[in-house]
Amino acid sequence: MIQKYIEHFKSGSLDAHKDASRFWVKDVGPVVESYIGFIENYRDPAGARAEFEGFVSCVNKETSKKFSTLVSRAEELLQRLPWGADYEKDKFLKPDFTALDIIYFGGSGIPAGINIPNYDDIRQNEGFKNVSLGNVISAVPKQKIEFLSADDEAMYKKYFKESFEVQVGLHELLGHGSGKLFQNEGEKLNFDKNKVKHLITGEPIKTWYEKGETWSSKFGQLGNAYEECRAEAVGYFLCCYPDILQIFGYEGQVADDIKYTNWLNEIRAGLVCLEFYQADAKKWGQAHSFARYVLLRIALAAGQGFVSIEECVDENGKADLKFNLDRNKIDSVGKPAVGDFLKQLQVYKSTGDFAGGSKLFNEWGAVGPRELRWREIVVARRKPRRNFVQSNTVLTNGKVELKTYPATNAGVIQSVVERYGEDAVNDALNVWEKDVKIFGL
Ligand SMILES: [Zn+2]
Repeated sequence: MIQKYIEHFKSGSLDAHKDASRFWVKDVGPVVESYIGFIENYRDPAGARAEFEGFVSCVNKETSKKFSTLVSRAEELLQRLPWGADYEKDKFLKPDFTALDIIYFGGSGIPAGINIPNYDDIRQNEGFKNVSLGNVISAVPKQKIEFLSADDEAMYKKYFKESFEVQVGLHELLGHGSGKLFQNEGEKLNFDKNKVKHLITGEPIKTWYEKGETWSSKFGQLGNAYEECRAEAVGYFLCCYPDILQIFGYEGQVADDIKYTNWLNEIRAGLVCLEFYQADAKKWGQAHSFARYVLLRIALAAGQGFVSIEECVDENGKADLKFNLDRNKIDSVGKPAVGDFLKQLQVYKSTGDFAGGSKLFNEWGAVGPRELRWREIVVARRKPRRNFVQSNTVLTNGKVELKTYPATNAGVIQSVVERYGEDAVNDALNVWEKDVKIFGL
């Protein structure tokens, strides 16, 4: 794996990086886990160029046990998804699914979970790994949670970590890991054209992936948000099953509260993420935000008082919003609505029908005057971006020690300086000084 990485970084060969990823996938259950390269293309408007990231982490054995139970029951749980066996992979490639605690994550943002490698051919034929980054979730600072009632805010703070762990587990494993792509494999199609029916029209399947076509090549720029939405929806849908919550160790009232907190957090996130909608360009800058917004729209459209957002003023006379989700209607209203949408997302993905899929997704993703007004309030009330200060490990007399820093700008800089050493810091300073000369301050 490392030899292939070296080859890739020296030559730029993508094939070498793919080979390194193949070795990586085969390295099942290591205690220290890492991955490096140009991996996620979230920030590229064309959805092609990936950003560099690399991480080192170690396994959280306790949480990993829950995830391995989830993996062992995956085939049975996948049957609950609303699309039926024809739309599911012939054989579920059981991934390595571990909970990791990050030692260091280099990149422009730190995700809470990852499902890699992103190469479709490796994923479909050789497998992939699921990783939940536990200490990233618990490092989220306890700020005021906007738009919730006092009771909901208390519930949110009590169960956020637990509910998010469930959501990340379901999102990564049964979300990204589910569904089949209908493909022409050269000699034959990988599905029975005479038997499989379109889930919306009921007619025979007319479109599929021709040889050389992939999900990314067909869905391009929209593919990221669309796929994130599918994975998110799987999480909302499956967290409604008590036996699934039991896998994570939750039963009775606690399980019910965790399910509620998950829906509350995720659907509310669809409102808060309007911040990332570029109103002038009428574009979404971030795939997960676009995805969650679409699911907020689905929840609102489900009606029957399931989700409501009302404008009001806070105690200082500033415009505010009241977000409400009826916990008694999750099973009867929310779950069926999300399930029906999930079925539509899946059929367009399976059949490689970009025209149908993009029409559906962009209609639900449209931001109208009502949502623009919500956006204004969200932006006016947003908090400063939080600092993510990462620790260093230091070797003292043969013992590893963890060195932490205060959550301030100075703390971030100090941690970086001590991690990379003088040469790297001087390089960064040189680059910065050149930038100042060219662009000014
Ligand atoms: Zn995802």
